[in-house]
Amino acid sequence: MRDESKTCLNCGAGEDETPVVMWRYQGREFWMCAECLPIIIHKREQLMVKWPPTDAAQQTQN
Ligand SMILES: [Zn+2]
Repeated sequence: MRDESKTCLNCGAGEDETPVVMWRYQGREFWMCAECLPIIIHKREQLMVKWPPTDAAQQTQN
């Protein structure tokens, strides 16, 4: 059973495909896969164009 909440914020890979790690930012939790970790370390501005996560944005609107 795929858990959609545990998918990489950057590439969308799930924990069934690759190791993912939970991070926290601005009070929200998100997941990043091992392959995308260099992006959050070295190119965070590139990742932040996807921030906040879509599901969190929808909750805000509700
Ligand atoms: Zn990824």
